[in-house]
Amino acid sequence: MTDCLFCKIIAGDIPSTNVYRDEQVTAFRDINPAAPTHILIAPNKHIDSVNVLISDDEQLIGHLFIVAKQLAAQEGFAEDGYRLIINTGQLAGQTVFHIHLHLLGGGPMKHPMG
Ligand code: AMP
Ligand code: ZN
Repeated sequence: MTDCLFCKIIAGDIPSTNVYRDEQVTAFRDINPAAPTHILIAPNKHIDSVNVLISDDEQLIGHLFIVAKQLAAQEGFAEDGYRLIINTGQLAGQTVFHIHLHLLGGGPMKHPMG
């Protein structure tokens, strides 16, 4: 999508600090981190949100989590603990409508959620 911020980041048209890329997903550091380490993992193809996922996306969404656990290990907090979040829709705080998995780690997480 031409007017999508994350499509532009994935295409390299907007600068980002990328930490991982393969044929399916791109991971980059959040510009406004909510934890000592805050990485966004997004599919290279545009999908608005969880609301529009289809069965064909199952492998891709599973892959987001495999990349997340690899990055948690790479960043050094896999054993200490981390949080994975997918905001969906306005009331959940989704601001970029290109589906993405937040990986938060490197310190204690605030509770409760919601
Ligand atoms: P969400 O609110 O779940 O849609 O998450 C969007 C995230 O994108 C927020 O945590 C923002 O800080 C982050 N963000 C916005 N613009 C950029 C950017 N140019 N580069 C990296 N992260 C960004
Ligand atoms: Zn997009």
